[in-house]
Formats: sequence, structure tokens, C-alpha cells
Amino acid sequence: MGTSLKVKPLKNWIDIGNGPLIISGPCSAENRNQLLQTGRELAKIKEVKMIRAGIWKPRTRPDIFEGVGEIGLQWLLELKKETGLLTCVEVATPEHIQLALKYNVDVLWIGARTTVNPFSVQTLADELNGIDIPVMVKNPLHPDLKLWVGALERINNAGITKLAAIHRGFYTYDNKPFRNLPMWEIPIELKRTIPDLAVICDPSHICGKRELLQNTSQKALDLSMDGLMIESHYNPDIAITDASQQLTPSDLEILIKKLILRKEYGNQEFENLLEKLRYEIDLIDHELLAILSRRNEKTKQIGDYKKTNNITVLQIERLRKMIQERINFGEELDLDSNYILKLLQLVHKESIRVQTNIMQE
Ligand code: PEP
Ligand code: MN
Repeated sequence: MGTSLKVKPLKNWIDIGNGPLIISGPCSAENRNQLLQTGRELAKIKEVKMIRAGIWKPRTRPDIFEGVGEIGLQWLLELKKETGLLTCVEVATPEHIQLALKYNVDVLWIGARTTVNPFSVQTLADELNGIDIPVMVKNPLHPDLKLWVGALERINNAGITKLAAIHRGFYTYDNKPFRNLPMWEIPIELKRTIPDLAVICDPSHICGKRELLQNTSQKALDLSMDGLMIESHYNPDIAITDASQQLTPSDLEILIKKLILRKEYGNQEFENLLEKLRYEIDLIDHELLAILSRRNEKTKQIGDYKKTNNITVLQIERLRKMIQERINFGEELDLDSNYILKLLQLVHKESIRVQTNIMQE
């Protein structure tokens, strides 16, 4: 997927030291005491650089708490002046942007429910035109990389180059054990196609429950994500929104201390051995492709034979037996059965395509 995004690397617009950028704060600003108490405790954790708070909350149903609105921005500003922490809020309308600017919010983010709608994103982009403020774009609710990139492009086209993405997981029909499935391959592909774009992981909305946060945060860092946004509350059990996924600031500090920061590259000796191992993997992959090519030749031969004898492409009983046999054999070779199943489904889909072409020639 080609994209022409022009973005400034994160370290050029936020002092992240050796990183990662840690953002924390309550799901929602609820009252002055809650926000200030939480923020003051967070300010004592040296890794925390930015405080988040939902001021306007996108709720599924009407007539429930929808955020405190403008007054919350005042509390946030008070906190920023007192602690020196940077601040960030979600914006979903031009009016939100105007108010966030009025109260000196440092970074804006676009929520998952907004990213799904190009009209909404364009309205925000139009409002941002000519303003120099960093913007972070959460992934859309469903796993659609193009829609995510499209939203980033709209904001970028408005002249915003201090741009980052937030990976908060995806809603699918089966998310267990997560609230939103991480589908790490999507943010990885985003990073691959837009190398300068920082991707911040939001483990809170991925996990939905605090027990899963440590492992998911570690995984995000091991996948070279540039930061973490983790929800916190001085007393999560009484939080009005997302109670079960928020951490106390002291539990957040424990989580941060337990994180292992790995480097993306090692010393010369390490790199030399890695290169050797990678060369071996390259050879194995070439063997694999040569074998797949031989397999395709055999598939064609079978396709011709079926066509001459007026036999259908698919024999379902054969497919069933083949997959089971391969899964059993794979298990003997210590290969995960789900992996083998997916691989064979893909390989077989290709056979169907090849033989269907032969039938239609
Ligand atoms: C949030 O950050 O509190 C939020 C509403 O997140 P999302 O847009 O990812 O659902
Ligand atoms: Mn939340």
C-alpha cells in the first residue's frame, strides 16, 4: 500500500529520553479531586511524560455519563501547571479542538469511533488546518488498515506533521481473552509502510482488564512500539468508565518497573551471528518456495487429469482427510495445529484457484 505521509519522528517533538513514551491518566475526567489526585501521583513516576483524560466520552447509549466537558480542561490545565506534565485529550468535533486549544492542551487524539468515519475525520482535519499541534490517531474499531492510514493522511494533508498512531485493538466477533483483539500484524504493517510514524500502544483498551496489561505492554515494546497509553485512576473500583482496566498510579509504577526494555539492534558480535542465522532462514525460505512451486506443478497435473475425466475440482472427503493427516504429521514435528490448519487452508485455496483456471481454459 503506497502512502505519501510526511511525518516528524516522535523524538523531534516530544522529549522522550530513551523512551518509550508513557502516557497515563483516567479514562474520564470525573471531578477535580479525582483528576488532580491521580495526576499528582502519576507525576511522581519519572517515566510518565503525559497525562490523558477523556473530557467528552463517546458512549454506546444515551443518558449515561458523557464526560464533564469544558470544566475538565480547566482541571487538566491546573494539573499541567502544577506538575509540568504534558496533557492530551480526545477530540471528536471542531468545538472540542477549539476548547482544547483554549486550555493549552499539548496533544490531541482522535478516538476509534471517529476514525471509522471519513466525514468526521475530514471535519477535524479542516479545523486543524494551519494549527501546529501534535495529533495521535487511534485505529478504527474494526481491522481496516486502509481506513486508519486514510485518517492519518487526512490529518497530515491539513499540515499536521507531528503525527502518531495509537493501536488500541480491534473489535471482532471473538475477542477472547481481550476486549479488543490486538491483531499485531496491523500496527506492524503500518510501521513497515510508514517508517517515521510513531505507534503508541494502548494496552488498556486492548485488554479490558488489568490482569492482562503487563504481558500486553511487554509485547508492544518487544514489537518496537514507541510508547504506551495506559489508563489509571487513584481508585479504579469507583471509576465511572472502564473501571476494570484502570490501574492505580502505584500499580502502574510496578508495571513500568517490570518492563524489560530491549534494543532493536545489538553489538557487532550479536549482529554477525544474527546475520548468519538469518542467512540460514533465507535459504530455508527459498527451499520452502521451491517446494511450493513443485506442489503447484503437481496440482496442475491433477487438474488436467480431472478435467479430461470430467471430475469436479473439489473432493471434500479428500480435503478433510488431507488436513487431518497433515495436522497429525505436523504435531509429530512439533508444529502448532492451528498454524498447520491455516497454512493448509491457504495452500489448498491456491490449488482450487489453479485447478479452476484449468477447468475454465
Ligand atoms: C479512550 O481512550 O478512553 C477511548 C474512548 O478509547 P477508544 O477510542 O480507543 O475506544
Ligand atoms: Mn477508556
